[in-house]
Amino acid sequence: MADLENVVIIGSGPAGWSAAIYASRANLHPLVFEGAMTQENQENGTLPLGQLNLTTEVENYAGFPAGAVRGFVLSAVDEDQHGMLPPLPKDEHGHDENKYAVMGPELMMLMRQQAKNFGTRVITDDVVEVDFQTHPFRIKSSEGKEIRAHTCIIATGARANYLGLESESRFKNRGVSACAVCDGALPRFRNKPLVVVGGGDSAVEEATYLAKFASKVHVVHRRDELRASKIMQERAFSNNKIQMEWSHTVDEVLGDDERGLTGVRLVSTKDGSKRDLEAGGMFLAIGHTPNTAFLKGQLDMNAQGYIKWKAPFRTYTSVDGVFAAGDVSDDYYRQAITSAGTGCMAALDAERYLADKGIE
Ligand SMILES: Cc1cc2nc3c(=O)[nH]c(=O)nc-3n(C[C@H](O)[C@H](O)[C@H](O)COP(=O)(O)OP(=O)(O)OC[C@H]3O[C@@H](n4cnc5c(N)ncnc54)[C@H](O)[C@@H]3O)c2cc1C
Repeated sequence: MADLENVVIIGSGPAGWSAAIYASRANLHPLVFEGAMTQENQENGTLPLGQLNLTTEVENYAGFPAGAVRGFVLSAVDEDQHGMLPPLPKDEHGHDENKYAVMGPELMMLMRQQAKNFGTRVITDDVVEVDFQTHPFRIKSSEGKEIRAHTCIIATGARANYLGLESESRFKNRGVSACAVCDGALPRFRNKPLVVVGGGDSAVEEATYLAKFASKVHVVHRRDELRASKIMQERAFSNNKIQMEWSHTVDEVLGDDERGLTGVRLVSTKDGSKRDLEAGGMFLAIGHTPNTAFLKGQLDMNAQGYIKWKAPFRTYTSVDGVFAAGDVSDDYYRQAITSAGTGCMAALDAERYLADKGIE
């Protein structure tokens, strides 16, 4: 008979670890599936530790002002994990920075450690199948491990969609970003022309946000009109820093090892002609894909595959005892701190559910 767990958490971003910290401090002994170290996950950007593990400095997670972060991380994280830490950021002379905002991988390793300190158990594997029609629920991992669970918290996040160009991968974190709110205020993007790719509401939102810092924002859109709502279109057209590059796509990201991204090559969708645009950054706003393929048919989702919450400000899903937290159920805020917040909520919801059922 498969092991029976109180709380199984699937996912290893801020939502998953925050849920684990709360559930473990409530003596629920949670088990986390953090994802597998596979080539496929590497290519999809879904390796353990979530989206922040893919980025450099995180300046907007409350409680982490710039400081001598590495010393603290080394003192907090188990020694056998030190080899996983990213290289320190460099100052303009190429020396290690002493004072910097916490880096994404450091922040995630701290969260994981905090959950483990309270007794969270971690399995480094993907969940590939669930059965929420029977109770206890059944959960199966890619290596064939089968678990039964009274409650399950889904915190598998979402992944940003990219164009898929080789040159784009080369300059990720060196000028290419998929989150203006996260990265737009970083020094490398200030007072420079920037490129936003997309034509929906989020493209206009990103462009409007970036216009606060950039010298100019070029919105590259494959069609000759925006998909964005009327009000968002007016916002874009009335901002004199935003310039539309209609009927174009990005053909190549330009740059070099020293400076990172320096521009993009555009290709016309009308006549195939090409031209180069100087830029300090390129922001993708072409949507996200929630990591819910393994849940198909088990939970109510919206058309894009985001898990629906049954009631506002509750992490309940369409199945009693299954809760959803973080970007997997949020196509709107998509921030580390909001994910951590809903992770906490999901653990509290799971705890109350178990208490109501008299399960300890
Ligand atoms: C480049 C970049 C920079 C960012 N910078 C910032 C920033 O500065 N500040 C900020 O607030 N936000 C930032 N964000 C957004 C932030 O990272 C996300 O909002 C946040 O990480 C979402 O957390 P989450 O817990 O919902 O899931 P995620 O971080 O998406 O993590 C979920 C993880 O769960 C695991 N998983 C998925 N499927 C399975 C499965 N079937 N089985 C087991 N495990 C699975 C995977 O490892 C996956 O990565 C950034 C995002 C990106 C891409």
